[in-house]
Amino acid sequence: MTFVAHTCNNCHNGTLDCEGVCSNCKAAYDLRSVAKLVVFGEGGDTVEYGGGSRGSGYGRPSNPHAADPKTTIIPDGTIVLDKRPAVETKDGLSWVFRGPMVNVDLKEGEIERCPTPSYLLQEALKTNAYGALLAIHRSQQEHEVTSLDSVSIVDYCAGWVKVGARIGHYEGGEIIWHNDPRAERAARERAMVGPESVTPDGATQKELF
Ligand SMILES: [Zn+2]
Repeated sequence: MTFVAHTCNNCHNGTLDCEGVCSNCKAAYDLRSVAKLVVFGEGGDTVEYGGGSRGSGYGRPSNPHAADPKTTIIPDGTIVLDKRPAVETKDGLSWVFRGPMVNVDLKEGEIERCPTPSYLLQEALKTNAYGALLAIHRSQQEHEVTSLDSVSIVDYCAGWVKVGARIGHYEGGEIIWHNDPRAERAARERAMVGPESVTPDGATQKELF
């Protein structure tokens, strides 16, 4: 999947330079209010703007709140991640705790490591939920991305898609979805339990997975 990020929402023709000015129609955007990533989860929608700035609301893809293109600048090509189909599965639910966080300012492949807290701080944190996270963090291998590290938009979304999230992008204020994990899952389940799927040719069946 390739995404063209930061296309002008006004003329749909130019691209925004580093100061937020369209190369074609010269429309000027305040880059602090230009969405870099939109995420839908069980609790609602979140818009990541970069620089650690984010907005959230109680929206769904069909009725976005924080990610409403009428009130938020969402350039064509902005990636949309829908975690809801993923968290319906065991893998997706555990990814909530195992997966890394996102830093939308990172480039693909970059990892922002969680700084290892001092021994005293670790002791103090042992008894609460954050302490539990630290324990998971330590138990994971040094070179692996852990749940307290941050990764780029592309790497963050790839991790979620792997466990069943829906991915798409905004174009003209509308979401264009690239996959349909719920339908794909239903098709796999039908293939597993349906008597018509029991073929003498095991290889054909295997290809479904
Ligand atoms: Zn333009």
